[in-house]
Amino acid sequence: MSDTIFGKIIRREIPANIIYEDDSCLAFQDISPQAPTHILVIPKKPIEKLSDATLEDKELLGHLLLTVKNIAEQQKLKNGYRVVINTDVDGGQTVFHLHLHLLGGRALQWPPG
Ligand code: AMP
Repeated sequence: MSDTIFGKIIRREIPANIIYEDDSCLAFQDISPQAPTHILVIPKKPIEKLSDATLEDKELLGHLLLTVKNIAEQQKLKNGYRVVINTDVDGGQTVFHLHLHLLGGRALQWPPG
C-alpha cells in the first residue's frame, strides 16, 4: 500500500471523516474543502496517478466514477457537481495516490486557474 497520507488513512493510521468504504475504495471529507461539499474518493490500490493506470484498472476506474455518482446522490447535489482528477505536477496534484475530488453545493467557476 502506498506510503502517502491517503495510504495512512486507508490503514487507519491517521484519522479522516470517512463517509463510504467498500472492498476497493474509500471516500472521505477533504481536510481543506473548496466547496460546501468536497469529498475525495480513492482506490485502495495504490495507483499514484491517473497516468499510471492500465487496462488492468478498467473496472476499478469505472467503480470509482460510479461511487462518486452515488455519493453525489446521497449528498443531494441536485443542481450538479464537478469531478476532478488532478494529475501529476502540471495538473496540480499534491498527494500521489490517485483520488477523485467531488465538489458541489455551489456554482463552480470555469475555467480553473
Ligand atoms: P490534489 O491537490 O488533487 O493532490 O488533492 C489533494 C487533496 O487532499 C487536497 O484537496 C487536500 O486538501 C486533501 N488532503 C490532504 N491531506 C488530507 C487529509 N489528511 N485528509 C483529508 N484530505 C486531505
